[in-house]
Amino acid sequence: MKRITSFFSTEASVTKKAKTISEEIKTSATDPETCVDECSDNNDWPSCWTVEQKTEFCSKNEWLWFQDKKLGCTVCKNVGSLSVEAKMGMKISTEWSNGEITCYGEDRKKQLTSLRKKIFDHKESAGHQAALKIKKEAEKDTLGNAVLKFLKRDKLVTEKVFRTAYKVAKANQSFNNFEMEVDLQELNGVDMGCILHSTNACINIVNHISIEMRKKMAKEIVRCKSKISLMIDESTTLSQKSTLIVYIRSCVEEGTGMSEPINLFLD
Ligand SMILES: [Zn+2]
Repeated sequence: MKRITSFFSTEASVTKKAKTISEEIKTSATDPETCVDECSDNNDWPSCWTVEQKTEFCSKNEWLWFQDKKLGCTVCKNVGSLSVEAKMGMKISTEWSNGEITCYGEDRKKQLTSLRKKIFDHKESAGHQAALKIKKEAEKDTLGNAVLKFLKRDKLVTEKVFRTAYKVAKANQSFNNFEMEVDLQELNGVDMGCILHSTNACINIVNHISIEMRKKMAKEIVRCKSKISLMIDESTTLSQKSTLIVYIRSCVEEGTGMSEPINLFLD
């Protein structure tokens, strides 16, 4: 029985060896089929590894890559080149991202252990895990999605700013109050963006809103064919400038929901 097992084990080792050799031949012939992933397309893996060990490490850690008999990490390399990691408060190992990992030790066994330990340590390191997360997010969130998200956020922020400006005008507040209103909302945790916060912005926004409202109202009056009355008044301002004011009085119930006739300052 013992003989049989030993016979089989020797045979197994022989076939293993044969496989190794055939694989070696294949890789040296640079058959494109042997390039399972990007790390196996060159012969630069650490000298202490056999082809089999290399394949095993590569299949277990698909982020491995080689360069001049040194190891590197493709994920850390790609994420590190974006230089976002500093902003997110994480540290990506430069040795791994630049492919500068070498083995140490006098004999092959020690070299193997050192590499195995280094790979394991890097796999578990916070920097590598964070890089993996970023890569995953990036794959999920394509550029198109990211742009759409930004546009949507911009619209939401502008909406809030416009609403604030409208409130200032509606409550007959001074335009100077606008900045304070924005500051208050920001203090309360509302995302108000970073533009259109000035008094001038408020004036422009209120003018824009009034023009749009007037257009809509005029359209509605024409559409409803309701009766209108005009009130024209001339007056002089404090600076002795004479002005002519045209008021329009009409009832536009549909669309606006106003049952009472309204006085519009038209021009
Ligand atoms: Zn990594």
